[in-house]
Amino acid sequence: MTLIEDKHKNDITCLVRPEVLKLPAYGAGQTLIQAKDKCPNVAMVNLSVNENPFGVSESAQNAITEVIADSARYPDSQCSNLRAGLASKLNFPEQRIIIGNGSEDILALLCKAFVNASDDVLIAKPTFSLHSIYVKMMGANIIEVPMNDKMEYDTDKWLNKISTLPRLKMLMLANPSNPVGCSLDKPNLAACISACPKDTLIVIDEAYFEFAQGDRNFADSLTLLSAQSRSWIILRTFSKAYGLAGLRVGYGLVSNSKIIDYLDRVRTPYNVNSTAQAAASAVLKDQAYLKTTVDLIKVERERIIPILEKLGVFVAPSSANFLFIDTRSNASDVANRLLIEGIMVKPWNELNYDTYIRVTIGLTEQNNHFVQALKKVLTGKL
Ligand SMILES: *Cc1c(COP(=O)(O)O)cnc(C)c1O
Repeated sequence: MTLIEDKHKNDITCLVRPEVLKLPAYGAGQTLIQAKDKCPNVAMVNLSVNENPFGVSESAQNAITEVIADSARYPDSQCSNLRAGLASKLNFPEQRIIIGNGSEDILALLCKAFVNASDDVLIAKPTFSLHSIYVKMMGANIIEVPMNDKMEYDTDKWLNKISTLPRLKMLMLANPSNPVGCSLDKPNLAACISACPKDTLIVIDEAYFEFAQGDRNFADSLTLLSAQSRSWIILRTFSKAYGLAGLRVGYGLVSNSKIIDYLDRVRTPYNVNSTAQAAASAVLKDQAYLKTTVDLIKVERERIIPILEKLGVFVAPSSANFLFIDTRSNASDVANRLLIEGIMVKPWNELNYDTYIRVTIGLTEQNNHFVQALKKVLTGKL
């Protein structure tokens, strides 16, 4: 770096908000192309970001082809078609649905609109890193509730923490959890919500809803929250089961349309592009694609758990399309060695969890490839 660049860097640092100076960057990890460049001699499989292994549905591809010629026009700022489609599918009022550029966009909007500096926000540990990053961006306090030893949500710990936070602004949890995969059932989720102060905003992030829907141990938040007279938002996405991660579409269901009026004030007006809107509307109606995806993932998940356990690792309970695995070795080392075998996973680089990797359930051959690679890496280490 030249002296001039150095001086400029110092100057700009003085201008940055203190919250931003302290903010950790989101660790998106390497792309499939970067991993292939690093290890050109293996067939690389990306099992690190919980994508749909079937790729984009034909229904979405056709919709994209149809609308792409209209790309000279601005998209519908209100996402009217997609909201109408969701409203009819979920039997939920259209005015209480917001669409985001991914559900992470809506997480950011929530923080911008509702979270003040020094507010208290309660989240899980470990959890999706954007649950804390956007909160920290506003200068608010993060309070974390760890999972229990079996890597499940620990309701007693949540209730204890909540009882110490009389001014709790927001409770935010992923159900099922990312990265763990465990889910909260109805009585336990209801207990946590009821324990919160009346004006706490409840945020349930259901990015993996489609995989958990109907499970006995998974709370139907929409029914549960609809019966409550308090403020809440449920977040879902087209990135996981619906296979549109690259197009960025997520949605929020809210307790009262007033929440959307406020979120709209901090939203960029054209946050969801027209191709993404059309693709999401199309795949939403594609029941066959969703069913094929969800059925295969669940069968494969249950198939490989006992095989992995035989390797001597701990596998956390999962209602989602991934597994959180305690390799009992340094997770980054394991991930680097898996990369050489052609498998990308997410090593969890967080204190107390840094022996865990998160691996996405893929197609049958991909899962077999992963199991073989992990076996090789772990036996190589012992
Ligand atoms: C993947 C994921 C998201 C983000 O989804 P996008 O819609 O792609 O932004 C949000 N929350 C959790 C818990 C996730 O795992």
